[in-house]
Amino acid sequence: MSNEQTFIAIKPDGVQRGLVGPIISRFEQRGFKLVAMKLCSPSKEHLEKHYADLSGKPFFNGLVTYMLSGPIVAMVWEGREVVKTGRAILGATNPLASPPGTIRGDYAIDVGRNVCHGSDSVENAKKEIALWFNENELISYKQAQFDWIYEKA
Ligand code: GDP
Ligand code: MG
Repeated sequence: MSNEQTFIAIKPDGVQRGLVGPIISRFEQRGFKLVAMKLCSPSKEHLEKHYADLSGKPFFNGLVTYMLSGPIVAMVWEGREVVKTGRAILGATNPLASPPGTIRGDYAIDVGRNVCHGSDSVENAKKEIALWFNENELISYKQAQFDWIYEKA
């Protein structure tokens, strides 16, 4: 399925450190299609909902404070196996365990400042996309380079 979608976000540290361009470039250059993008400052409630699965963790409050510390770039990217491949492009949750060549392995050190988010399953991607975007913000178009990226749709 070349129309799988994932939710990718550039966290406040990534925005403030001028990493928006380099992070977007990695998804563009791989061949994935940008479907939605906005710079936003979500509420505490929104971020608590986004990370609801982690609400019992000792770092949860710090995580929400971190995510509230500045604007976030929220995006939807589309393409074959983009959920799994997006996670590979981001790297491991702990940047020190993430090899060079990954976003976190190239640009981050601490787990609590790991510059980016990516959905961890197709099911969670659907939930996250619905939480962060209205349906009319998801843009439907044919990627001009589609036939140069995919052998078959
Ligand atoms: P991800 O899917 O790779 O982002 O990792 P998780 O879903 O497990 O955690 C969500 C986010 O919480 C991570 O990206 C980190 O920013 C943060 N986080 C996870 N584990 C830790 C931890 O042990 N300590 C701190 N301070 N933050 C953490
Ligand atoms: Mg996660």
